[in-house]
Amino acid sequence: MNLKDIIAEIPDFPKKGILFRDISPVLRDPAALSLVVDELAKVIHPSEVDVFAGIESRGFPLACALALRYNKGMIMIRKQGKLPGVTHKVSYNIEYGTAVMEIQANALKKGQKVYICDDLLATGGTAKAAAKLVEKVGGQVSGFVFIIELTDLKGSKAIKDYKYNALVKY
Ligand code: IMP
Repeated sequence: MNLKDIIAEIPDFPKKGILFRDISPVLRDPAALSLVVDELAKVIHPSEVDVFAGIESRGFPLACALALRYNKGMIMIRKQGKLPGVTHKVSYNIEYGTAVMEIQANALKKGQKVYICDDLLATGGTAKAAAKLVEKVGGQVSGFVFIIELTDLKGSKAIKDYKYNALVKY
């Protein structure tokens, strides 16, 4: 099975000129979903992880599936204004302007090792912001996993201080 055959390509989404890579068909195909979890489990040693963190929104199912596989929990990194209680924020640059992501202040215990999960690595701005949030609340980032990496956008540079893996590269 080749994931590239299953990942959908949607032209002009969310705006004209962008080719959106959509993992929805992977999530709804049990064999493809198992393959993703099996392949990512090959690169994450159990000693490296106490908690999986999912980046909103396509990182959530990935983090949750891995958490179940490793018998760990998962935490959510969300866009501004979605998480209740006390939160920490990090702003980061997006194509036009800035965006803000949040984590709950009590999401982690000090020193917990975290693997951060998202569907896709593009410029790496989102991933880097997620790492800062994990560190702000006392976590230690062990690495990142993605299903897709858009290599031209050089996101790996933004997270060069961390280990990362992506299953499919374009
Ligand atoms: P970055 O911050 O530039 O690396 O962008 C990565 C973030 O944008 C991730 O949270 C992705 O979910 C989202 N993203 C960017 N491009 C795509 C795409 O083609 N398909 C799905 N998500 C995308």
